[in-house]
Formats: sequence, C-alpha cells, structure tokens
Amino acid sequence: MEIIDGNKLAKTIKEELAQEVEQIKANGGKIPHLAAVLVGNDPASQSYVRSKVRSCEMVGFESTMITPDADVSEAELLDIVKQLNENPEIDGFIVQLPLPAHIDAEKVTLAIDPKKDVDGFHPQNFGRMALGLPCYLPATPFGIITMLDRYGIETSGKHCVVLGRSNIVGTPISLLLSRKAKVGNCTVTITHSRTKNIGEELRRADIIVAAIGIPHFVKANMVKDGAVVIDVGINRVDDATAKRGYRLVGDVDYAEVAPKSSFITPVPGGVGPMTVTSLLLNTLRASRKEVYD
Ligand code: NAD
Repeated sequence: MEIIDGNKLAKTIKEELAQEVEQIKANGGKIPHLAAVLVGNDPASQSYVRSKVRSCEMVGFESTMITPDADVSEAELLDIVKQLNENPEIDGFIVQLPLPAHIDAEKVTLAIDPKKDVDGFHPQNFGRMALGLPCYLPATPFGIITMLDRYGIETSGKHCVVLGRSNIVGTPISLLLSRKAKVGNCTVTITHSRTKNIGEELRRADIIVAAIGIPHFVKANMVKDGAVVIDVGINRVDDATAKRGYRLVGDVDYAEVAPKSSFITPVPGGVGPMTVTSLLLNTLRASRKEVYD
C-alpha cells in the first residue's frame, strides 16, 4: 500500500509554479493575479479563501481579496463580478460558495466571464470539459487527475466507481476519467443516494472516488484487494481529545481500507491540498491565455 501524499505533491507543484513565476519576472511578463470574493464571515469559507490567498503568496502570484458583508445585495455582488470581469489586471477570480440565501448563486456563477472562471464552475467551461475542448477544469477533479498522473497510476481500461454525483466533484470526475486522455479511458460507474447495493458496485472497482460527505462510509468489505482509493470527503466528527473538539475524517474508513488498497489518499492531507494547487494552475493558464485568446 502506498499513501498518495497530497501535501507533498502540492508542495512540489507550488515549487514548480514559483520557478515559473521567476521565469515570467525575468522575461518581464505579467505576474498571474487571482482575486477571491468572500461574502460574509462563515468560518469554513474564510479558512478556504485564506488558504487560497496564502498559496498565491507562496508561489509569487498577486492576489486580491474582496470581502463584502453578508448583507451585500445580489445587485452589488453582480457589480463586483462585472468589475472583476472588466479589470485587465485580474487574470482569474473565484466567488467562494456557499453564498447567503438571499443571493442566487447560479446567477452569480453565470455572470463570471468564462475566460476568468478559474474555478471551472461556469456552464461554458463545464460543457467544454464534457466535449474535451480546452477549458478550466474544476479544481477538485483537476487535483485528482493530477494525483493519478504524478503517481503514475494506470487508469486506461480500469473500472472506476465514483460515489456521489455533485456538480463540483462526482459528475465532473466521472466525465474526466472516461475521456480519451492520458489520465482517462476508464469504464466509469456513478453511484449516488438512489443506487441499490453500493457495496456490490464498489467491490468491482479498480479505482474508487468517494465524494458523498458521509464519514467512514466506505468499509473494507466494500473494497477489492489492490484497489486505488481516492477519498474526497471532508467531514467533522466530534473528538473530545482534539483541541478544537472535532477532527476531520474522509468518506472512507481509512484504518480498515488502507491495508487492502494499492494506493490511498489520507484525510486530511490528500485531495484537499491539491484543490488549491489546481486553482493556481488554472490562474497561470488564464494569465497565459492558454484556454481562451
Ligand atoms: P454533495 O453534498 O453536493 O453531494 C453528495 C453526493 O453524495 C450526492 O450526489 C448524493 O447523491 C450522494 N450521496 C449522499 N448520500 C449517499 C448515500 N448514502 N449513498 C450514496 N451516495 C450518496 O457533495 P460534494 O460537494 O461533492 O462533497 C462531497 C464531500 O467531499 C464532502 O465531504 C465535501 O466536504 C468534500 N469535498 C472536498 C473537497 C476537497 O477539496 N477535498 C472539495 C469538495 C468537496
């Protein structure tokens, strides 16, 4: 069994990006610039956005944080999006989700210029991904693909079972793994809350991607020997011995499943750090106009 170390891989990719930035500086080019819009003061969102901005600083990207209050109107937020769309200094930007209930998140996502949509959430980027056209890949699936690639894990001809069908993880990773691509060519089964006998489906998997948000859902008896296990879940469980009173666990029962697997991602320290790295890679591509002219 080999652990897929997301922290280590993310560090390596950040070092590569820092070198790219040095090269750009030496050539007098434009330093990639990411903006993040964080509405309100939800602690989890604050911590995600802080980590994204800190990562920009680590690699030498420029970053801008815009932090409207939770009572910002939808029209005001749409105006912020418009200004970011039109600002030539900003290569890409994200609007951290979830948004307060009085704002229509779909409307905001649709207002983002696809050329600057480095989260890859705009339907234009999603559609281009489905068609295999140049696009910004959504950050978490992009991180998973990068992990499989960098660890040299063969995907071609393998049977992959994805748990969960969300628009940000389950559905896009299913599309990506079945595409005709270096990391792809899998036979993919998507499972979800209405799937009958998930254990039976999972036991046929060479590769499992678990993204349902239920702590320790995947047990050893659902996994075949030698499977590759990618655990996307981030779940808080009470833990009186932990300083914060809780700890983070994945959707996979790591202690049980790890000994049966050939490769496995831990939680924390697996897919999570790669999500931020993907955002940086998308921002670099945006600054180079690699996807759209
Ligand atoms: P979501 O909550 O939007 O959707 C959950 C999916 O799981 C749904 O498609 C649903 O059909 C399926 N599901 C729910 N209960 C099920 C059951 N009993 N059996 C089978 N399927 C079931 O999911 P999401 O936004 O993709 O998030 C999933 C998990 O991944 C969460 O823990 C989230 O915190 C985590 N996450 C992590 C990262 C990261 O960077 N590591 C990024 C995004 C999400």
